[in-house]
This record gives sequence, structure tokens and C-alpha cells, in this order.
Amino acid sequence: MIVVGGGVAGLTTAVLLAESGRRVRVWAREPAERTTSAVAGGLWWPYRIEPEPLVGAWALTSLRVYQELAARPEETGVRLVDGVHHGAHLAELGGWAGRVPGLRAVAGGLAARLPVADMPVHLAWLRRRLERAAGTVELREVTDLAAVPAAVVVNCAGLGARSLVPDPSVRPVRGQLVVVENPGVTEWFTTVDDSSAASTYVIPQPGRLLLGGTAEEDDWNLEPDPGTAASIVARCASVRPEIAGARILAHRVGLRPARTAVRLERQLLPDGRVLVHNYGHGGAGVTVAWGCAREAARLTSPTP
Ligand SMILES: Cc1cc2nc3c(=O)[nH]c(=O)nc-3n(C[C@H](O)[C@H](O)[C@H](O)COP(=O)(O)OP(=O)(O)OC[C@H]3O[C@@H](n4cnc5c(N)ncnc54)[C@H](O)[C@@H]3O)c2cc1C
Repeated sequence: MIVVGGGVAGLTTAVLLAESGRRVRVWAREPAERTTSAVAGGLWWPYRIEPEPLVGAWALTSLRVYQELAARPEETGVRLVDGVHHGAHLAELGGWAGRVPGLRAVAGGLAARLPVADMPVHLAWLRRRLERAAGTVELREVTDLAAVPAAVVVNCAGLGARSLVPDPSVRPVRGQLVVVENPGVTEWFTTVDDSSAASTYVIPQPGRLLLGGTAEEDDWNLEPDPGTAASIVARCASVRPEIAGARILAHRVGLRPARTAVRLERQLLPDGRVLVHNYGHGGAGVTVAWGCAREAARLTSPTP
């Protein structure tokens, strides 16, 4: 069985398959640290992902897994962190929200203690867990899914699916972040307007603070824009003034693999082999990773 893609979707799916006894190889064009997944803020929250009823179920499945992984944060990279979604209202969210333990209305928004994954650490841990289950990761580019030499092929190529499938409905939603020295912020906060290209969020990670962000549709530019970075810092500092003087450590850009709906389905290749798609997770690929991986693994079985 070959999983194409070694971001959070591919590695999580590969882990579940390998731990169920399959022989799994991951083929990825880039190493995990150069994927969109490595750029992600890592906060568990459905954002810019559809369709909502399925996303809610995948996200809740993943939430339970991340809550367990948070018992070993140094190893897994996952921690439970308090924070507030400013401007969010329970009534505007799907049914899933009522099942998030501790999610509650506070002045101006919703508060909760949610999983936050330190993505470079989490991706490295997923890879080690895969290797412990005898799975492998190889740096290989795929140009034709039907030519991948395996009885079952799982496509977790993220935005790469656009040309690989090909599927023009997968489109980039560019996100830029500024990484600063943490001036003492211990909780995350977001003020996100789904319809706007600019949002304001802060996510504490070990040794650093992530400041966001942007959501620029159909923008393929992977270069950080200095003007955008300055506005991100200014917006975040308007909420927490101590951020204004924080030393900038790095700039990050990632392209979210957006689609009108996540593609999680089984297809037969012309020669009868099975191809399972698991891509198009938009702004919440970490949030839904375990739920989608379970469904993708189920779809690989002869009688799903
Ligand atoms: C700034 C920013 C902040 C974000 N914050 C969050 C957050 O807080 N929480 C959250 O849940 N989500 C967040 N996201 C979204 C999240 O990053 C994505 O949904 C997720 O990373 C998608 O994972 P993926 O594995 O599908 O894709 P990717 O991580 O892009 O991985 C795709 C893999 O496929 C490989 N590939 C592609 N084409 C080919 C090919 N032809 N042959 C071989 N391999 C190929 C790539 O090399 C890579 O290994 C954020 C995104 C951005 C940009």
C-alpha cells in the first residue's frame, strides 16, 4: 500500500494503516518540514473546511485522540492550551460545538481548553510512530496516480492533488504567519472573520509565539510579504500590546488546500486497483486528521 503525501493527512493515515497490520510506504515530494502542515498553527478548530456535518464528526474523533496525545507533550508535540475565540457564538457553529468539552460563552466570545500541536514536533513524532509500525517514508514525486505500483494507493497530496488527480477545484488559500519571541503570552486567541483575507490570532508554542494571519484565496505566493507581516504584528499587538516589541524570529507562509468539500472517497483505477482520496482539508487539516485518516483506512479495505 502506498500513501502519496507526507503532511499531517498522509502521515496520520499511514500510521493507522500500518498499525492495522498493512505494509505501508509513504511517497512524498517534500520532506515533512517543508509541507503546509509544518506551517500550520496547530490549533484544533474547524476553520475554512467543508462540509460542516462531516467535518464536525471528523474533528470530534481527532479531538479525542489529541486529548490523549496531550498527556505526552514533549514526545507528541500536542498540548492542551486555554484560549478565546473572540466574536464566535455557539449558535453560529454546528452541532459538533456542543460536544466540545468545556467550550463555553464568555464576554465577547467562546473560551475553551483545546489541543495545540507544535507541528514540526508532531510531524516528526508521526513519522517515528509510522516507522515503529514498519512503515517507511521515501522522497518521491508522483506524476500519475494510476502508475503507482501498489494494490492500494491513498492520495493525501493536499494542494498537490490539483495537478496530480487532476482536480482544479483544489485551490490555495495563502496563510502568512510571523514567529516572535514569546513576551509571556500563555493563552491562544483568535478574532477570525471567515469572509475576510485578514484575521488576528496568536498561538503560543514552546519557545515561540505564532502571530497570524491571512487567508488569501488563489494566491500562490510562498514569499513572506513584509507589509503583510507588519500588519499582522500590529493587529496582534492591538489585542496584546507587549507583542509590539517582541523580537521576530521568522516569517512563514503556507498554502491551505481548500476545496468546496474535503474529498474522502474510494475510486477504482482502470485496472481494478483501489485509489482512496483524502485531501482538500483547507484551514483545518490538523483538526480533522485522525477522523479523516480513520475513514480513509476504512475505505482501503476490500469491503468498506
Ligand atoms: C498559516 C496556516 C495556518 C494553519 N493553521 C492551522 C491550524 O491552526 N489548525 C489546523 O487544523 N489547520 C491549520 N492549517 C491548515 C493545515 O495546515 C492544512 O489543512 C494541512 O496541513 C493539510 O495537510 P495535508 O497533509 O493534506 O497537506 P500538506 O501538508 O500540504 O502535505 C501534502 C503532501 O503531499 C506531498 N505531495 C504533493 N504533491 C505530490 C506529488 N505529486 N507526489 C508526491 N507527493 C506529493 C507533499 O510533498 C506533502 O508531503 C493552517 C494552514 C496555514 C497555511
